[in-house]
Amino acid sequence: MPRKKKDGRHINYYIDRKLHQRLERYAEDNGQSMTTALERILKEHLDRYAPEETAKPDLSGFCSNCNLLVPSDRCPLCGNRHVRPPKEDDYCYLTETESIWAGALSDVFSENQIPFLTKNRLGIGLAAKIGPSLERVGFYVPFSHYAIAKELEEGFFSADIPDQE
Ligand SMILES: [Zn+2]
Repeated sequence: MPRKKKDGRHINYYIDRKLHQRLERYAEDNGQSMTTALERILKEHLDRYAPEETAKPDLSGFCSNCNLLVPSDRCPLCGNRHVRPPKEDDYCYLTETESIWAGALSDVFSENQIPFLTKNRLGIGLAAKIGPSLERVGFYVPFSHYAIAKELEEGFFSADIPDQE
């Protein structure tokens, strides 16, 4: 199955040798790559330092114009103020991806029995003119399956790049 590269940054800092040894030992003890160990240690510390950055946004409303989960008072996309709580069978916008990933993502949802709808963003005529690679596909899932679909989607798009050691 094809996987999209994770959106990451390389870091290169000259750190204390003993501290580095402790990090290596920690990673080994936990059966983690150095990358995973560093990410978890940093995340744990930073979550404690600035918990507001990890707070989830309010998505308790549903905009039926945009098929989007939105804050309870207003849709930030179309300005709709008649936002209502989502119903189980409301199809909610989940994500958008380049068409080359759409097939594989569809497979992930099918394998996990997630109902979904897709919507191509470019019209068929335009896609034929500029090529299918630029076409983007929107994915919509029922609210009842939104949380699990989000998890699957995030797993799909955050594949680990192996350490270069
Ligand atoms: Zn809207």
